[in-house]
Parts: sequence; C-alpha cells; structure tokens
Amino acid sequence: MNNYSIDVEVSEVGPRDGLQSISPILPTEAKKCWISALAAAGVPEVEVGSFVPAKVLPQLADTAELVEHARGIEGLRVAVLAPNFRGAQDAIRAGAHKITIPLSVSETHSLKNVRRTHAQMLEEVSRIAGLIRETPENQRPDFEGGLSTAFGCTLEGPVAPERVVQLAEALMQAGCDEVGLSDTTGYGTPDQVRDLTRAVWRAVGRDRLTGIHLHNTRGQGLANVVAALDVGLRTIDASMGGIGGCPFAPGASGNIVTEDLVFLLEGMGYRTGINMERLLEARQVLRDSLPEEIELYGFTPEAGLPKGFRYA
Ligand code: ZN
Repeated sequence: MNNYSIDVEVSEVGPRDGLQSISPILPTEAKKCWISALAAAGVPEVEVGSFVPAKVLPQLADTAELVEHARGIEGLRVAVLAPNFRGAQDAIRAGAHKITIPLSVSETHSLKNVRRTHAQMLEEVSRIAGLIRETPENQRPDFEGGLSTAFGCTLEGPVAPERVVQLAEALMQAGCDEVGLSDTTGYGTPDQVRDLTRAVWRAVGRDRLTGIHLHNTRGQGLANVVAALDVGLRTIDASMGGIGGCPFAPGASGNIVTEDLVFLLEGMGYRTGINMERLLEARQVLRDSLPEEIELYGFTPEAGLPKGFRYA
C-alpha cells in the first residue's frame, strides 16, 4: 500500500463496531476472509475487534486471533479497542498497531458501557500509557483516546462542548498520543462537527486530533463527513454495509456506510487508495457470511457506480 498516495484514510470499524451490535456470532474464518477482502480492496486500516471479556461481548472473543491474521497482511494498519488496562495488555501482546480506549464524555454512558467513572477511566489511561512506555519501541502501538458521546448522549441528552475539551486535555495529560471525536449516538450535525473539532484543536493542538467516528442514525452521516473534511480532519471511520451501533446507547444504530463514503471521497477528489469494485467484492464476502435477517445498507452498492466514474 502506498500511503503517500492517500489524502483521506478510511478506517473500517465493521468487524468491531458492526459485529458487536448484532447478536449472531460470525465464525472466525469468515471474519478473516472479510478482513483480507477489505485489505485487498485497499482499505488502509481495519479495527478488527475489542479486547473485552468474552462473557460481555461473545461476538468479539476471537480478537487476538484476528489481530494475528491482520498483522500478516502487508501494509494493513491493525486497530483495536481496549476498554481497560487488561484489554490493552492483551492488545499489546497480540501486536495491534493502534489501541483506542473509549472515554464517554457522558459519565452516565461511561458507567453503563464500561462501569467506570471519568476519574477511574483516566487512571486506566495513565496505566496503559506507562505500559506502552515500557514496551520495546518497535512494538509500541499508537494510543488514542476516543471521546465517545461527544455530540450528545441518549441517557444524559446534550453534552457540553467544554466538557469534551476538558476531557480531551485530560486524556492527553494522562498519556494518549491523540484523541478522536465520536458521535456514538448519531446526534451530531455539520456545524457541531466543525465547532467541536476547532475547540478541541485549540486545547490540544491540531496534530492531536485527526479523526472522527460518525453514525448515520439521523441521516447526518455524510453531511458530517463533508464538514469534517472542510475543517481538515483526515481519518474517517465507517463500516461496511453500515452495520453497527452501540449496545448500551439504545437506538444508536448504523455507522456511516464505507461504500458510500468511498464514493463521496473519490468523487470530491480525495484519494482513498480503495478500489470500489473490490470493495463491493468484500461486501459480498460479508453478505455471504451474515445471516439473511441482518440487513446491509448503502446506496452506492444498490445503484452501482455512475457511468464513466473516475477515481480522484
Ligand atoms: Zn460507533
């Protein structure tokens, strides 16, 4: 993969965010085939799973094996979620390139999601940062603090931007390399994306926030992507077929659709490194391994590429 030729990095989170929110458990071999197909399409980064106890999310119990598989694919950046120190230990042992710890700006959501207060989560972040410092330099993962429910919470309602900024600063002080904004509940609108990004930049620096995680729960997903691009964010999370959500934020279904995102980006002149035909082949790999009742979303896969479509 030639990183230099990419303007915007698409991070596929379907194997984690998507599969954690549906009850059927995909066989490990099927997940491996899907991850390989995504990489073959040129997807530069895949979040392959989450290091949580199998009794909490049995759908993701094979994350270590998936990291090992994905690390064998040349050029692919292997990302995982780790909600605590124990999970981060496993992630480092498995050899993930990037670890994201989610910190919910809504403390009520944090307590539901990971059963920890903000203070307890920041303590975990410090311990993980210490662990990463002790890890040999060539095996150190990038460490991101994901600010979830940053645009509003199904439990608490509106979330104050000041609170997001404070927690972004606290995450950096606790030892994260960067922070990410996450619209877990699909409440965000384009102005909010621009304003919140700028506010966090003022506090932690522009190079410490480069990515955003959006859901399409209220149909704002791609509008929010355009706002994110306008303001200057360059990593966008999405999931194939729009599968995904949060099991602890009721009604928060649907990541933005990778296939539609790639069409938008290439159409707007941003190189993604992704080949659309091969991306649709990866979609078929996913379709074939999912039970029929699980719907796959996306307009571009339905309509096909426009006649004469040209990549950026
Ligand atoms: Zn999500």
